[in-house]
Amino acid sequence: MYFIKQKLTKLSMKIVVLKFGGTSVGNIDRIKKVAKIIASYKRKKLNVIVVSSAMSGTTNDLIRKTEELSNNFDSAEYDVLLSSGEQAACALIAGRLKHLGLKARSWMSWQLPIITEGPYSASRISKINKTKILTFMKTGGIPIITGFQGINLDSRITTLGRGGTDASAIMLAKFFNADACNIYTDVDGVYTTDPRNHSKAKKISKISYDEMLEMASLGAKVMQPTSVQDAKLNNINFSVKSSFEKKRGTLITGTKKIFSNQIITGITSTKNDAKVTIVGVKDKPGVAAAVFKPLSLNQINVDMVVQNISLNGKETDLTFTIKSEDLKKTEKIIKKNKRISFRKFSYDNNVSKVSIVGVGMITTPGITYRMFQALASKKINIMVISTSEIKISVLISNKQIKKAVAVLHKEFKLD
Ligand code: ASP
Ligand code: MG
Repeated sequence: MYFIKQKLTKLSMKIVVLKFGGTSVGNIDRIKKVAKIIASYKRKKLNVIVVSSAMSGTTNDLIRKTEELSNNFDSAEYDVLLSSGEQAACALIAGRLKHLGLKARSWMSWQLPIITEGPYSASRISKINKTKILTFMKTGGIPIITGFQGINLDSRITTLGRGGTDASAIMLAKFFNADACNIYTDVDGVYTTDPRNHSKAKKISKISYDEMLEMASLGAKVMQPTSVQDAKLNNINFSVKSSFEKKRGTLITGTKKIFSNQIITGITSTKNDAKVTIVGVKDKPGVAAAVFKPLSLNQINVDMVVQNISLNGKETDLTFTIKSEDLKKTEKIIKKNKRISFRKFSYDNNVSKVSIVGVGMITTPGITYRMFQALASKKINIMVISTSEIKISVLISNKQIKKAVAVLHKEFKLD
């Protein structure tokens, strides 16, 4: 009984997980700044667990090297190589903290270990052995842990997909039952829309996991989407903050904790989308599957899909969107697909998907109408529409993105 009690008091000091992204540790000056941020938490008598990504550009350089050596580089060696960037960054941070007189050391994921499941380059953390980190923290030490990686049950190094340090941070927060998890990056939070495209964009102070997931997968590149999913599943609140400026960030949390009368939380737009229409395909069961199966086998991501109602009951048109970079490949695949017949293949390479996101739309009627009305008032033509419970997306000409975002931002009182 006594021992349990003592253990509890010892661990009762608060734990914060601090994640630093590639740009935050992108050069020597920035690493010095990061060390200062870490030291400021330590001064507040907090237990700090640091997890870092590689210096910006490093991972891309490593990938380039593999591509020069082989167009089919061994997947296990690929992960060993890619994980090396984080090792360097962590040693640099730890070294700087020691220079400042703090107790710190770097840990590679395999030294703990952090156990992962799943394929190389897309593994997920399943378990973290906390013993060494807890022991080190009890002596006042600051552990600096490599993000983006772990080891699998064969003791091989694995990685968590691009941007995977976000997932490392969330899972460290989960396993250590952290009191806070702060994601330091090059933007100071999540915005109502991309501030580079719209001057009236505002920082969101709180956003729900689901909204953040929609925004992230719609192209608001703040967080790796799977890490937001991990946070949601494990109910981990986290903040996105800037490592360059001292400002309040955005808190990402469960819906219940958000009190707001805002119906729409954010507006996103995509770049480089293409719309494909297959004119005159047979209107019979199995045709859509026959069109999309070879696309999926070739890793082509199909986004919005519409099939027109057949007028004569024999033929119909099928429209869908893909990334522009997949257009050539898609055309080839469709044209040589012997399982379908059609009259014409046409495409538009200058389209963009604009979406409004907000949990408020579940309980508020009339949002779709307001969106369409606002777009119509600016003579913006809608080509394709798709919706989910908390999102409405429309496909428009990419020349009209700015105008569309501006009018929607105003319509939903985000200005
Ligand atoms: N360094 C890895 C990447 O560039 C992981 C990360 O940045 O989180 O994807
Ligand atoms: Mg990142």
